[in-house]
Amino acid sequence: MERFNIMWTGGLDSTYTMIVYSRYDIEIQPYYLRNGRKSEKYELAAMDAIRELLLKHPETKAKILPLIVIRPDEIPDDEVVTNAFRGIKKKADMGSQYEWIARYVRNHDIKGLFYSPVKPICDASKLRKCLEDNGGVLTKTNCTGRTYYVIDMDNATEDLKVLFGDFNMSETFDLTKSEEEKILRDMGYGDIVEKTWFCHTPVLGHPCGYCHPCETTVESGQEWRFTKAQLKRYAQHKAGVPEWKVRLGSYIDVLLHRN
Ligand SMILES: [Zn+2]
Repeated sequence: MERFNIMWTGGLDSTYTMIVYSRYDIEIQPYYLRNGRKSEKYELAAMDAIRELLLKHPETKAKILPLIVIRPDEIPDDEVVTNAFRGIKKKADMGSQYEWIARYVRNHDIKGLFYSPVKPICDASKLRKCLEDNGGVLTKTNCTGRTYYVIDMDNATEDLKVLFGDFNMSETFDLTKSEEEKILRDMGYGDIVEKTWFCHTPVLGHPCGYCHPCETTVESGQEWRFTKAQLKRYAQHKAGVPEWKVRLGSYIDVLLHRN
């Protein structure tokens, strides 16, 4: 049975990848990066709930293996990856998670781990810009017949090959968040869409409304995920109100049960 390795966060994009591959007779190995983010307990709870729903779904054929948690402090050093990351960072801003995960897959000899970067609707994605600036991607089709994307190894810079050469980009690469949502709802996974987690800095278990993932969620047309009070905090943050003030307001909203 073919094994598909998927980075999973409990968010909509990586859950989209989990869902579409759950419909094939394959083995899915999900991986999760745990590095102390405020949102982790909500992401882990979302993944547990989603796994349960997926296991009950009539179209699920894949065997979904237990989540493997990657902790950055347990990944051995790898100078080759670290130097490549530094090289990329000189040209483009990029989160440390890509360096940690690239070191992890080299150390564990994992091939074709799926990232699920979504197609941005307006502001540029750092990852997409980095891939384009360093050689671009190629479109491929795998044994399930689904499209995925890989680094163009003939044209990529050496740094990009080291950092992303062992990875696949899911078909989410060419889908916006609202397209992902529509496809999943049309396929009968609306309950799972609603269980996905997106906020990086939740306030007492509720989406803050103003962190970057909340912002992109609002702006991609998923206002249904927020209460009126949270959308007000989003608007305040956009209007330049200092973050501490917006956050304090969010706490008060939650404590007073404002919706
Ligand atoms: Zn948030």
